[in-house]
Amino acid sequence: MATIEATLQQVRVRIARACAEAHRDVQSVTLLAVSKTFPAAAVRQAVAAGQRDFGENYVQEALVKMAELTDMREQVRWHLVGPLQSNKTREVAAAFDWVHSIDRLKIAQRLSVQRLPAMRPLQVCVQVNIGGEAGKSGVSPDAVGPLAEQVARLPNLCLRGLMSIPEPSADPLAQRAPHRRLHELLASLNDRGLRLDTLSMGMSADLEAAVLEGSTIVRVGTAIFGQR
Ligand SMILES: *Cc1c(COP(=O)(O)O)cnc(C)c1O
Repeated sequence: MATIEATLQQVRVRIARACAEAHRDVQSVTLLAVSKTFPAAAVRQAVAAGQRDFGENYVQEALVKMAELTDMREQVRWHLVGPLQSNKTREVAAAFDWVHSIDRLKIAQRLSVQRLPAMRPLQVCVQVNIGGEAGKSGVSPDAVGPLAEQVARLPNLCLRGLMSIPEPSADPLAQRAPHRRLHELLASLNDRGLRLDTLSMGMSADLEAAVLEGSTIVRVGTAIFGQR
């Protein structure tokens, strides 16, 4: 089995090639290693190989892992990419650096109240159901503007941009379409006066398509840590 150091390197090469094709600076894309279901030891190996940003889906699992990795707290940034219920916001506000999955005002308000002012503001993205698929998390594209404007005004949070998890597709051109729509949505919010710089889009199977459409954070699990 390939080591985490080796798989991380492969993913970095994929990002670099896509950036070259898109005429983008490789520094403009952050690799977020999604470590959900993998143990603290796997995160430790990735940190040893130079990885700094880690994504988790389940709050409880993340808190246990973080407790095993407190010696690395200054070296890593923790991102919540999974759904967030209101009864978990206090723990999230205290432990995470980023939340990518804001989908209603109430959650953002609770995070804002519960984030300690002594901490750096919590960096957040609004999750968009870009394909408008029934039963999928995220706000519909028409509802993003009003929600983003309200979230942007909350203290102790910093609204950075948008996140989406489009329907998987094996066709590279079809993969690009939802990423392009998310980019256009971000541009339209900036035209309305917001200042957003983050597109959290692209995973193991479609990170090249996402980088070609302007992704600034790719969230990669399987290609780094293996099958879950
Ligand atoms: C699991 C997950 C990922 C990583 O997916 P892979 O296909 O394993 O790269 C990215 N984003 C979110 C929100 C996830 O839940």
